[in-house]
Amino acid sequence: MDPILQPHYETVLARNPGEGEFHQAVLEVLESLGPVVRKHQHYVDEAVIERLCEPERQLIFRVPWTDDQGRVQINRAFRVEFNSALGPYKGGLRFHPSVYLGIVKFLGFEQIFKNALTGMPIGGGKGGSDFDPKGRSDAEVMRFCQSLMTELYRHLGEYTDVPAGDIGVGGREIGYLFGQYKRITNRYESGVLTGKGLSYGGSQVRTEATGYGTVFFTEEMLRLTGRSLSGRRVVVSGSGNVAIYAAQKAAELGAQVVACSDSSGYVVDEAGLDIDLLKQVKEVDRARLSAYAEQRSGATFVAGGRVWDVPCEVALPCATQNELDADAAQALVSNGVLAVAEGANMPCTPDATRVFQEKGVLFAPGKAANAGGVATSALEMQQNASRDSWSFAHTEERLREIMVGVHERCASAADEYGTPGNYVAGANISSFLQVADAMLSLGV
Ligand code: GLU
Repeated sequence: MDPILQPHYETVLARNPGEGEFHQAVLEVLESLGPVVRKHQHYVDEAVIERLCEPERQLIFRVPWTDDQGRVQINRAFRVEFNSALGPYKGGLRFHPSVYLGIVKFLGFEQIFKNALTGMPIGGGKGGSDFDPKGRSDAEVMRFCQSLMTELYRHLGEYTDVPAGDIGVGGREIGYLFGQYKRITNRYESGVLTGKGLSYGGSQVRTEATGYGTVFFTEEMLRLTGRSLSGRRVVVSGSGNVAIYAAQKAAELGAQVVACSDSSGYVVDEAGLDIDLLKQVKEVDRARLSAYAEQRSGATFVAGGRVWDVPCEVALPCATQNELDADAAQALVSNGVLAVAEGANMPCTPDATRVFQEKGVLFAPGKAANAGGVATSALEMQQNASRDSWSFAHTEERLREIMVGVHERCASAADEYGTPGNYVAGANISSFLQVADAMLSLGV
C-alpha cells in the first residue's frame, strides 16, 4: 500500500478490533487508491479516507421471538448506515449464523462503492442478523421478521434507508418485513424495501438481476478481449438466487454450465445444469444438492468436495465471502480458466485474487460484477416512486445497459490510472472518486 494511506489503514485496524472481513475489504480499496491520492492530495488533507471508513450510523438491537414450541428465542440484528453521500442508504439484509458487526461492516463498505458504480442515486448500507432460517417453519420466519421490523422500521424510509435481501433473505422474508412496516406505519411506502413480490410493488428481473448482471459483466470482459461466452465451460459456486440465475443466463448465451455447489458439496452435470430442477430442489423443496443428482441421470453429487476442481474456462463464485482461496485459484489456473467474476461479495481471498491477476486471468471484483442486483433495486425504487411497472424485456435491457456502464467505468478508470485491465483498481478508483467528490461538495 502507498505509505500515504498506511496510517489510515492502521486507524481502521485500531478502531475496529476483531473485524477481519471489514479490514480485508478496506485494505482492498486502499491498495488501489495510491495513484489517486498522489494525483489529488486534497482527499487525504480533507480526511475523506477516514470519513469513508467510519460508518455514519451503526445500529445493534435485540430481536426476541417465539418459536413453534412456545420458547422465547433471542437474536441480535444490525443495520450499518455507512454512507449517504449519493442517496439513501441502500443494501441488503443477511440472515445467517455467521453474521456479526464485522461482516455487516464489510458488506456495507463494499456496498458504498458498488452502488456508486451503478451510476444510480443510492448510498451504501447493510444489515442482518445471526438468525438461522435453516429448519425454521414459515411461521417462525414470519414472527422473526415481524420482531426485527418492529425495531428497524423507525430507521427506514424511502428517502432514508432502503433494505433488500441477501443470503437468507428472499421474497418470503421481504414480504413479511414489508407487511410489518406497513402495519406499524400505516403507510403503503413501496420504495422502503426492494426485492418485493410482483403482486405488491416488486420489479420484474429483480430476482434474476444479480446473476444476470454478473454474466453481462463477464460477457463484456470477454468481448473486449475478442472472445465470448458461447461454447465455454462454466462453473458456478453456490445454488442460491445469484448462482441459479447466473447459470441460467450463461446457458442462454450458449455456455455449458457444468457444476454448482452448496454447503454440503457440489454437483457435476456434463449435459449442462437443468435450471428448472435446480430451482425446484433449492427454492421450492429447500433441499440439499444431492437431491438434484438423485433426480437427474448423468449428474453426480460429490459430498464435501471443492467445486473449483471441476475444469472450466469461466468461474463464477456466487456463494459467500472467502470461499475461493489461493489453492483453489491455482487449481482453476492449471485447468485453463480464462475469466473469473465474483457473483457473491468478496468470495475470493486476497491471495486468490493475486493468483488470477498474476496469471493474466480476467478478474471482476464483486462490487462491479454483482452490482446488477442493487442496480435493479434502484430500478424498483424508480418504478415505485412513479407508481409504474415495467415489462420484463424493458427492465432486463435497462439492467444490461447499467452493467455495460459499470464495466466501462471500471475499464476507463483502470486505463486512466495506469493499470489497464485491472478491474479491481478500476472499480475502486472510479467509485471512490464519485463518492469522495460528493462528500466534499456536501461539506463536513
Ligand atoms: N444484497 C445485494 C447486494 O449485495 C442487493 C442489495 C440491494 O438490492 O439493496 O448488493
